[in-house]
Amino acid sequence: MERIQCKLCVMDSSASEFKVDDDGVCNFCDQAQKSLDEIRSQRDNLTSMLEQIRKDGEGEEYDCLMGLSGGLDSSTTIDWAVKEGLRILCFTLDNSYNTPEADHNVKALVSKLGLEHITVTVDHDKYTKLQDAFFKAGVINCEIPTDHILMAVSLKLAKENGIKWILSGGNTISESIMPPSWGYNARDLTHIKDVFNTAYPDENLDDLPTCSIWMWNEYKHTYGIQTFYPLDYIEYNLEIAKAYLKDKYDWKDYGLKHEESIFTGWFQNKYLPEKFGIDKRKAHLSSLINARQLTKGEAKAILDSPKQGFEFPVVELDEKEIMTYPKLPHTEYLMETWYEDIAKIIKEK
Ligand SMILES: [Zn+2]
Repeated sequence: MERIQCKLCVMDSSASEFKVDDDGVCNFCDQAQKSLDEIRSQRDNLTSMLEQIRKDGEGEEYDCLMGLSGGLDSSTTIDWAVKEGLRILCFTLDNSYNTPEADHNVKALVSKLGLEHITVTVDHDKYTKLQDAFFKAGVINCEIPTDHILMAVSLKLAKENGIKWILSGGNTISESIMPPSWGYNARDLTHIKDVFNTAYPDENLDDLPTCSIWMWNEYKHTYGIQTFYPLDYIEYNLEIAKAYLKDKYDWKDYGLKHEESIFTGWFQNKYLPEKFGIDKRKAHLSSLINARQLTKGEAKAILDSPKQGFEFPVVELDEKEIMTYPKLPHTEYLMETWYEDIAKIIKEK
């Protein structure tokens, strides 16, 4: 079947949610514009946000915690935070899949900015088993292990160091579009455990940092830990940010969004397109088109250019075998959704 593409962006009917209006403009563009309007209208609040973060850090060693991947978003965020005079504890998750460029960027930023920096190393054998379990499960989102561990480590480190604010490089400019059907949230530990125990019934995840919804609730409500997204409050132009970082920190480019991880590079460029017909670059590039930082022609040229590299990075597992596992929806495994249902009801009220 011929795919229908949006007139403005490069999203198409490969996403099940995709719809176009009478002018040929898709629902993702519509949503992206709403999100961009929303962040523009909140920018005046930056000063008061900063005041609050500094106030919450009074009497403590740090004002905020930040995970530094060496990617463009987190590098830009940390540079901004240091300029604002925030006292930052930063950490990098080492799951063995950071690109040499990302490692270089982390080192350069940490040394030039004189940051307090922790490297959190993940138990490689158990982590590989968890990845294997997600492949065997046949579900779309095999990035859940990394995303979940990152969240669990962030909250734990924040609590241990009396930190109330976690800074995130997440931002609307480059992330306004992502179809829900192309993933599943990484917060659901019940889901993660069920996927893991389906493949490894006699083992547990005690060696890895995890966070149940109950713990998450405690971090958020008992300890008052919150997340702040500075890039939504400042002018964030990706090309300008890259040039600035290269000049100031000898920062090295690693490719498109999220490709600072060799696992994610493979996952987004080979696994998802070949197994599920999903090309997440369409969503990333369409976000940039909506933010007026890329033309549709430029986006199409990127999508049409041959992909290079992206070899399967998990030496313990077999790529060919992984590609033959059956495909199954996340709903085949246990899910804990009550908290999202409640959040939705509150939002709709
Ligand atoms: Zn569109």
